[in-house]
Amino acid sequence: MTIFAKIIAGEIPADIVYEDDHVVAFKDINPQTPIHILVVPRQPIVNVAEAEEDDVEAMGRVLWGAAQVARQLGLVEGGYRLVFNNGAGAGQTVFHMHCHLMAGRKLTWPPG
Ligand code: AMP
Repeated sequence: MTIFAKIIAGEIPADIVYEDDHVVAFKDINPQTPIHILVVPRQPIVNVAEAEEDDVEAMGRVLWGAAQVARQLGLVEGGYRLVFNNGAGAGQTVFHMHCHLMAGRKLTWPPG
């Protein structure tokens, strides 16, 4: 069981900012931007790279959840970035799919 599955199950605490039937969104414990939220599907998909077609709705729900968080936090006008790390080589450390929603400072492109 990953740490995110434990958060979803309510076994360990998190600063939850949004939840619905499909996703839970909470503050990243080690924020890299002033606003750094993780949007996590309740369905334990490993990552985009390993997703199956049966996961399509859950994956779409992650993006919808991210949009709800951004609207709730007033980020639409200023813009925000959504990031999915896929695999250890790309920096993934928790193997339960999650979308990083990042905002609150100037974000450079391309990312480092
Ligand atoms: P990634 O490296 O893409 O797998 O992202 C995992 C993220 O989870 C990192 O940004 C961590 O800071 C964050 N994280 C790890 N444990 C927790 C936790 N208990 N609560 C909130 N965020 C966490």
